[in-house]
Amino acid sequence: DLRERVEDVVLARRPDSTERLLEVADQATGRAAKAAEDLEWRDLPVEDRLSHALVRGIDKWVVEDAEEARQQSSHPIDVIEGPLMRGMNVVGDLFGEGKMFLPQVVKSARVMKKAVAHLIPFIEALKTATSKSAGRVLMATVKGDVHDIGKNIVGVVLQCNGYEVVDMGVMVSCAKILEKAREVNADVIGLSGLITPSLEEMTFVASEMQRQGFTIPLLIGGATTSKAHTALKIEPSYSGPVVHVLDASRAVGVTSSLLSDDRKTQFAVDVRAEYEAIRVARAARGANDRLISVEQARTNRVPVDFTVPVPQPTFTGPRTLADYPLNELVERIDWTPFFQTWELAGHYPDILQDPVVGESARSVFADAQQMLQRIVRERHLEARAAFGFWPANAVDDTVEFYSDETRAHVVASITMPRQLMDKRGTGRPNYCLADFVAPKDSGVLDFVGAFAVTTGHGLESLVAEFEADHDDYSSIMAKAIADRLAEAFAETLHERVRREFWGYVPDEALSNFDLIKERYQGIRPAPGYPACPDHTAKGPLFAMTEAVERAGMQLTETYAMMPGASVSGWYFWRPESRYFGVGAQGDR
Ligand code: SAH
Repeated sequence: DLRERVEDVVLARRPDSTERLLEVADQATGRAAKAAEDLEWRDLPVEDRLSHALVRGIDKWVVEDAEEARQQSSHPIDVIEGPLMRGMNVVGDLFGEGKMFLPQVVKSARVMKKAVAHLIPFIEALKTATSKSAGRVLMATVKGDVHDIGKNIVGVVLQCNGYEVVDMGVMVSCAKILEKAREVNADVIGLSGLITPSLEEMTFVASEMQRQGFTIPLLIGGATTSKAHTALKIEPSYSGPVVHVLDASRAVGVTSSLLSDDRKTQFAVDVRAEYEAIRVARAARGANDRLISVEQARTNRVPVDFTVPVPQPTFTGPRTLADYPLNELVERIDWTPFFQTWELAGHYPDILQDPVVGESARSVFADAQQMLQRIVRERHLEARAAFGFWPANAVDDTVEFYSDETRAHVVASITMPRQLMDKRGTGRPNYCLADFVAPKDSGVLDFVGAFAVTTGHGLESLVAEFEADHDDYSSIMAKAIADRLAEAFAETLHERVRREFWGYVPDEALSNFDLIKERYQGIRPAPGYPACPDHTAKGPLFAMTEAVERAGMQLTETYAMMPGASVSGWYFWRPESRYFGVGAQGDR
């Protein structure tokens, strides 16, 4: 097996040969030494074995060790507060010092959880107070949002550091969050969200906390959240402390500062001052931001050559791809964002050799390969797509989609925002996606495509299995992989669209690297992203593609896609088309 994998690399026999060799590389280096080491620590006293297992994240013997330690101790709680907490403290310190990275921390937490799960029944049988917690943190992904990888990671990290975490899951309404906060007497509320509408919901929760007289700190986290947004939009709504938490590695520092009797007042004052400074700076900058009118901006549109022949799609209207082979998606995965999920900085594949995070990256990557193989082999996830092409033309900034070639009946009409910053004298255009579609009055018969893909069907049952086993590490891993497969599906489908379904570049042959770098003709802008930030466009997109019926997808009230591992967007074929950010829109 090893020789075959090495030959695959040397002779460049398969596109995934590097990955396949890396999968087994770990096993091939110093296997004997490792085995000896394994045996050695198993001879240590049970308390040391527990601490060792925690620091190394080895869950293999943890239940039997926890049981042995319990029989030796006068009270089962001593096992948690003694060796287990000692091990967790080492992990917390190493993580805080940047000597240990997130995947290892989550693995250590899995050991802790399994041990605690074993001990809890004994503790409850004795009916004494449970371990005193450092504080109780209520966490939720806000209404309309289904994403929870980041929230779950933060929850694990807080638990590692002795905080009690009450996790309400995803799509939780403000009323439910605040009711629960009262019921469990939360010390802190943490809100998470991925899509931009969640930002508004977070502001609403803050204002409700104010109205209902809460004073506890509010933590804000998630992909679209930022210190600036928190300072500008959320913090002014609530007089209690509001803090943006950039990533899991900051969560413990922030929470402990907010709950420490000595430090909390000063910390809150400092954060407030910092956020006030951001508001002042932004107000000054805002005054300089001159916007021009839409009519003015339109006269500075990007030049597009509408005389080139329009490529005809092989069909119009929606189509389905059901049960798409997962193994075809595997080779199209872009791994760099996977490492970002685990808070490991660097680009794949270089990250695997990185002097700082390389070891951690190799380990989490090897685990990912195993999980991926299992998902593909046992067909845990089903990949489905709804996509198609429509006759389309632009009318000013609006793209009109027609039901058929007569172009008489409009099935959807999407107004694309235009850049309104004053670019006069810069030689740069005021971009708008509609400019990449032939204007109706040009008489050119143009087309635009739309797609919605998901690889999230089946994920829930897989994750439920891990959660029942107290295995957050595998649960987060499975979700992260499902997300990667969804992006890989979007990439694969787009490639097939260019080569065959639309066929405007039939002999394109780009490497995975070139695809990731988007070195192809055309774009697939996604509603909610900077060129078309309005998430509500997913409404007509789903209707046109029949994503609900064909791919089993749904939209929440704030237009998050369900299942969470989903991607959707428009297809623009023209070589001039490109991504941009629309920027401020004024009152338009
Ligand atoms: N290889 C990456 C692909 C996702 S990010 C991954 O696996 O995660 C790139 C995608 O984001 C694009 O294909 C497009 O759908 C969307 N996107 C990026 N910038 C955009 C912009 N400015 N406007 C609209 N969509 C954008």
